[in-house]
Amino acid sequence: MATELQEAIFVAKKERHKNLFLNYRNLNNFPVELLKDEGLRFLERLYMKRNSLTTLPDNIAQKLPNLIELYLHSNNIVIIPEAIGNLARLQSLDLSNNVLQFLCPEIGRLRSLRHLRLSNNHLKCLPPEIGDLQDLETLDVSMNQLISLPDRLHRCASLQNLTADHNLLGHVPRQLCCLHRLNQLSMAANRLTFLPLDMGRSRELQFVFVDNNVDLKGLPSYLYNKVIGCSGCGMSTHGLEGDQREALGEALSEVLVGLPVEVKVVGCEADSVIPLEEIAMRALHRIYRQPPTDLNSLPPITLPKSLLDLLQFPLGHCHRCSQTMFTIIYPKLFPLRDTALAGVHRRTTVSFVAYCCSSRCLRTFDLQG
Ligand SMILES: [Zn+2]
Repeated sequence: MATELQEAIFVAKKERHKNLFLNYRNLNNFPVELLKDEGLRFLERLYMKRNSLTTLPDNIAQKLPNLIELYLHSNNIVIIPEAIGNLARLQSLDLSNNVLQFLCPEIGRLRSLRHLRLSNNHLKCLPPEIGDLQDLETLDVSMNQLISLPDRLHRCASLQNLTADHNLLGHVPRQLCCLHRLNQLSMAANRLTFLPLDMGRSRELQFVFVDNNVDLKGLPSYLYNKVIGCSGCGMSTHGLEGDQREALGEALSEVLVGLPVEVKVVGCEADSVIPLEEIAMRALHRIYRQPPTDLNSLPPITLPKSLLDLLQFPLGHCHRCSQTMFTIIYPKLFPLRDTALAGVHRRTTVSFVAYCCSSRCLRTFDLQG
């Protein structure tokens, strides 16, 4: 077997192959033949799935400098070296089905990376530097132990497909609503209790799968005309008699859905005035939303970072009139079972929720509008 491997690498080197297939070779270590002398400078795609590798060599970028795609699916990789960041041309990295517990921040230096697959590992967190991957289009982190996603992920301006199924995520960062190219978001089987108010506001986002988040009771009304997966969300009424289900459904519509901690007040139709704090935040937002063009136009007061963060990424925008909202929301529930979509979504009791900015917008909001 070893001779066969050496022969394959020898031929690839001699004939300047761009692709090398080393799948299913029982490799415990990265083959030294790949790293000898000047390495394989012409190699662009290296396939090494279903071996028993535990790490990668530190000099991988010096010896394989032109790698574009690296497939390491189904190995025993525990750690990848910081040197991975030197693979300047790498566009696709597949580390699915390994035993990674930690991802080094240097991953953020892979500026050409377009597809990163990390599913089925033991990751508890992702480095914020992942947000430096400006060309990243696909990120798959499903089947890990993530309790949160980095807020900086919103800087991945090219991201189109984000999959984070089967983790321990309690919320989706609202900053992700700013990913204007995101087309599909999948967060099934997590611990979500609410979704960002603005989720679905982007036209580009068309597919949202949040099935099997049992404590998720509400979906932003922006998602009404999108393709959604929400089976196993809310309280199950499966197996109840018709009358019982009816009574439970009525009660459910009274139960408020989960809300972000920044929501301080939940308004209702009877409210005639908006709280002063909210008015102040909306006024500040008008001042701070435009970056200053010169020193003379700097805002007159300095604000704490937490407040500036909230001004930059508001809780959401009114589903009726697009007004920015910071501390108060006026929610209106539309139980999914009362909508035309009810027949499609039987195993769920979620509601669509319109988050409005005032009692006036609350009164006039219509799901079909
Ligand atoms: Zn409004």
